[in-house]
Amino acid sequence: MVITIELNKRQERILQIVKDDGPITGEHIADRLNLTRATLRPDLAILTMSGYLDARPRVGYFYTGKTGAQLLTDKIKKLLVKDYKSIPVVVNESVSVYDAIVTMFLEDVGTLFVVDEKSLLVGVLSRKDLLRASIGKQELTSIPVNIIMTRMPNVTMCEQNDLILDVAGKLIDKQIDALPVIKETDKGFEVVGRITKTNITKAFVALAGEELL
Ligand code: ADP
Repeated sequence: MVITIELNKRQERILQIVKDDGPITGEHIADRLNLTRATLRPDLAILTMSGYLDARPRVGYFYTGKTGAQLLTDKIKKLLVKDYKSIPVVVNESVSVYDAIVTMFLEDVGTLFVVDEKSLLVGVLSRKDLLRASIGKQELTSIPVNIIMTRMPNVTMCEQNDLILDVAGKLIDKQIDALPVIKETDKGFEVVGRITKTNITKAFVALAGEELL
């Protein structure tokens, strides 16, 4: 899909013609601009794909009435978790704080999801949780992570078909960096992915990149 936030001069002229006189055929638009239908084809394709114009067979092009901002909002509301999620990094609830710190470094993530022996979600560990546990004089190899994690039912989660926009709202609301992507089963929640601020930044960049298509 294409998002054309900035239209070129010819596209602006086509848009004006269709606004004023639509529905109008490609042939007639071409006549009005003294151009061939073939020359106009890429512009008409961009205007249609980006949602400014709609085309009906044997009727012609008509103006959808949507502004650039409305079209962008439409696109943002189509971004789904399943298309931008990353692989989750999980640890068992019985591993030590020391092992969790090592895992966080080796896997290069900022949030670990904690699971039980059935691989079901029981908690979340952030960098600060691990730092906090390291401040005391306790032996880090002997404290299990389930003592210090944020536990269920206080874990904020999302599902594959949720909107990226809703996830972003939850991250802001709860002041956290990541959500587990879960699949609900009769036994509990399976962790199938991870959505972080980085994934949302990638979605944002991808949205702008579409303009180059
Ligand atoms: P950091 O601690 O590195 O700043 P966060 O802001 O993500 O990272 O975490 C802040 C607190 O919120 C931590 O105590 C963490 O356990 C908790 N937390 C992180 N992610 C979630 C989540 N998805 N649901 C509930 N609590 C979370």
